[in-house]
Amino acid sequence: MFGWSGKFLRVNLNKEKAAADGYTASTARSFLGGRGFAAKILWDELKPGIDPLSGDNKLVFAVGPLTGLSLPSSGKMVVAAKSPLTGGYGDGNIGTLAAVQMRKIGYDAIIVEGKSKKPIVLLVQDDTAEFLDGKDLWGLKSFEVEKRLAELYGRMVGILCIGPAGENLVKFANVVSQEGRAGGRPGLGAVMGSKNLKAIVLVGSREPSFAYPKELQQLGADGYREVLTKPNYAFWKQQGTMNTIEWSQANMVLPTYNYREGSFEKADAIGGFAMEKMKVANRGCPQCNMTCGNVVKDSSRRESELDYENVVMLGANIGLGNLRQVAALNRDADELGLDTISLGNVLAFAMEASEKGLIKEKVPWGKFKATKALVEDIAYRRGLGDLLAEGVRSTAGKIGQESSQWAMHVKGLEISGYDCHAAPAMALAFATSSIGAHHKDAWVISWEVKAGRESYSQEKVDKVIELQRLRAGVFEALTVCRFPWIELGFELDWYPKLLHAATGLELNWNNLNAIGDRIFNLIRAFWVREYGKEWYSRMDVPPDRWFEEPLPKGALKGAKLDRKKYDNMLHVYYERRGWDEHGIPTKTTLNKLGLDDVARQLGKRVKLRE
Ligand code: SF4
Repeated sequence: MFGWSGKFLRVNLNKEKAAADGYTASTARSFLGGRGFAAKILWDELKPGIDPLSGDNKLVFAVGPLTGLSLPSSGKMVVAAKSPLTGGYGDGNIGTLAAVQMRKIGYDAIIVEGKSKKPIVLLVQDDTAEFLDGKDLWGLKSFEVEKRLAELYGRMVGILCIGPAGENLVKFANVVSQEGRAGGRPGLGAVMGSKNLKAIVLVGSREPSFAYPKELQQLGADGYREVLTKPNYAFWKQQGTMNTIEWSQANMVLPTYNYREGSFEKADAIGGFAMEKMKVANRGCPQCNMTCGNVVKDSSRRESELDYENVVMLGANIGLGNLRQVAALNRDADELGLDTISLGNVLAFAMEASEKGLIKEKVPWGKFKATKALVEDIAYRRGLGDLLAEGVRSTAGKIGQESSQWAMHVKGLEISGYDCHAAPAMALAFATSSIGAHHKDAWVISWEVKAGRESYSQEKVDKVIELQRLRAGVFEALTVCRFPWIELGFELDWYPKLLHAATGLELNWNNLNAIGDRIFNLIRAFWVREYGKEWYSRMDVPPDRWFEEPLPKGALKGAKLDRKKYDNMLHVYYERRGWDEHGIPTKTTLNKLGLDDVARQLGKRVKLRE
């Protein structure tokens, strides 16, 4: 096989053994890599109903055929497992040297099985895997862990680790790399912690072999040059995703005070232009020439890397309008290994619950010191922090009193940074995303604002599906960053050409979209298999707040989602996807995608329509 190594590394922590495991060319062609491989492995190898925090769960790190190569924004890897937060499929991508080193060690995925009896560090150097004593690192924050491992193995090795939140099994703990480049929102840091795996170090010396290496090299170099010519390039380098804050404020989609309002009175103070005045450096993922991490000094003079999501969730959504303080919360979250999106969500939930008198603790909106202390409490599971560490769905279930109406999640995953009172297509995108409410699969909001906010049309449904194929399927499977295309207009035509040069496969966008659909449907099957008889169509519905509580102010005052129209739009979505009225893929749909075996297995758990 060209472009792929044809091998996974299977690591058993119970036995402290690792061995190569081959996979077929057909698997490579059908699932490409990254999320595609992860979904296939988890579907094939996990028994339904396992405890995500037990040794039965498997933690997968996977790359794709373009990952880590000298071409635009290729330094990404996917981390995946059954999620302890949602109970369904969970994954995330991380921009990290570990992605580059994964190609160099010569494996396309590492599958971590079982559970170590004591804290360990997994060191993989080409063919050799070692299980090192991790007790000196246990308890340390992620930046310190990386620093110590880099001192031992060098600055260019790949390091993935967890902070105290992962050790303490916080349900939205993530996996951290390169001081704050993190991934695995649905608690994959907790899965790593449950296995007593503090860190993974990857050191490789091989080069993958390619079908047309000279063509690949030329295309990569041309691609980098093309990125530089894009009109938005300079501004992107100045602000990255932070420029979206002013846009969200102007369009009333900024998550504010637990998604009650669509705009924030202090938005200017935390926006892209305010950030520019503080910016001290630009940082990013490896192999990227449009790096978008904005480094500022926080209120304690520490460096903190800002982007749209972490700033709106730890700023506007909790009523905090001081960017250096937002940066401090962000830095704390990165060091502790907490997902900033879910964190901003659970903090806002606690603030609202406190305001309404539903909890005895005083958690005021926008108060930095109190919030900072609560962030630590969550990571170490102290007091109220222990309750919040379970995520908003669980917390709302415990405090009751209709708080589930404003627990802002879908399928247990807290919503990322867009208010959808007046954005039905974005609400649908959140509701049907592969991991719970996340924007990555179908960031349809900018298109929707231009196309018109009020409509619940079929055109909107089709746009969501089109983006899910591309973003949730193809980009996550190629495992390259989508920002060159989305943000700068780097043409999609590049990707089939790059894929051909790497693998020799002639795939056009129809073929690639079919792969995207296959992966998306496999992940849906995973969710349905896990939930079994508990699965029902209300799983694909956003929180009540957006239907019941209109926006209280601004140009869109009074706007809210229409439940009947939303239900109809969801129904159309199911039809266009080839799913039944409960959102379960039909046998015909699965068979058409070559997922016959999935249909057979799923049919044993739930009734599948023809
Ligand atoms: S554009 Fe940003 S997120 Fe994408 S690879 Fe570059 S630095 Fe990473």
